[in-house]
Amino acid sequence: ELYNKVLSLKGNIRVFCRCRPMNSNEIDGGASVAVDFEAARDGEITVKSNGVSKKTFKFDAVFSPEADQTHVFEETAPLATSVLDGYNVCIFAYGQTGTGKTFTMEGTTEARGVNFRTLEELFHIMEERKSTFRYEVSVSVLEVYNEQIRDLLVSDSQPAASSKRLEIKQVGEGGHHVPGLVEARVKNVSEVWDVLRTGSNGRAVGSTNANEHSSRSHCMHCVMVKGENILNGECTRSKLWLVDLAGSERIAKTEVQGERLKETQNINRSLSALGDVISSLATRSPHIPFRNSKLTHLLQDSLGGDSKTLMFVQISPNENDLTETLCSLNFASRVR
Ligand code: ADP
Ligand code: MG
Repeated sequence: ELYNKVLSLKGNIRVFCRCRPMNSNEIDGGASVAVDFEAARDGEITVKSNGVSKKTFKFDAVFSPEADQTHVFEETAPLATSVLDGYNVCIFAYGQTGTGKTFTMEGTTEARGVNFRTLEELFHIMEERKSTFRYEVSVSVLEVYNEQIRDLLVSDSQPAASSKRLEIKQVGEGGHHVPGLVEARVKNVSEVWDVLRTGSNGRAVGSTNANEHSSRSHCMHCVMVKGENILNGECTRSKLWLVDLAGSERIAKTEVQGERLKETQNINRSLSALGDVISSLATRSPHIPFRNSKLTHLLQDSLGGDSKTLMFVQISPNENDLTETLCSLNFASRVR
């Protein structure tokens, strides 16, 4: 509802801001709150320092720490209809590590996130439309780490397959494809859940510290939908990208060396490439720099044109995180 309401007023890019709750360590440690949600209904959030308001930001929606997954999804659900209507859609979560990107996208078994809920909604609408439309849905799950693509649906027990280098190939006009990537056909919601679990488990494999690794890679789900109108034979093809981005925190170059420095540079490069692409699209710039990173190159045919983009900017309420919070909110304001 909200998405469509604002969509008619402006372009195809929306930004939702979501703040995680204080965790028990922060509460026990008496951490100060640096964000004010008084005007959240109007899409406004104010950042405070020492109790004094510093800056107010305006977004298409603001979710305070009390907003649960159901509430958040109410505002995201209309995008499922867009996908079945033939539009390409990208939903991202951006923000510092620990602010709830994975909570928003993947969620937990008890509090499922946008990924599962959006797919569940797709199947719900497909059921409603079944007398007129026939749909086929498949899902790929991949990770971009250090500018390399890894297939998360290929288990490490198949070393030949998982060590295969995956590259992006151009197909036709502006279309892109990653040859060799597993595309798992899903026929119902329980198959969706299985594929999402497999992908999530694949993310942790092969790293000594799964959390650290996941904060430095982009986890991307690509949902491919083929639709056919049974009455007139018209066909549609669309893609839904669901992206849990690498942590946006700035790591001082002086603090890291070697592999870790390369990793940091690749993250900064791909996140700034994403910001550049979205802001060039928002200002209708004639040149959109998609090729500057694997992330934006993969998303090329799903950003811009008549595609719909939704970015969650995730923030911490803790005053100790204020610098990163301001960076994230500034980034999100730039793309809007
Ligand atoms: P990120 O993926 O950005 O690094 P996580 O999603 O892992 O962050 O979130 C960090 C911690 O905060 C997790 O334990 C997560 O369950 C919790 N958390 C984040 N957002 C919320 C929320 N809105 N409500 C409850 N818990 C949350
Ligand atoms: Mg995460």
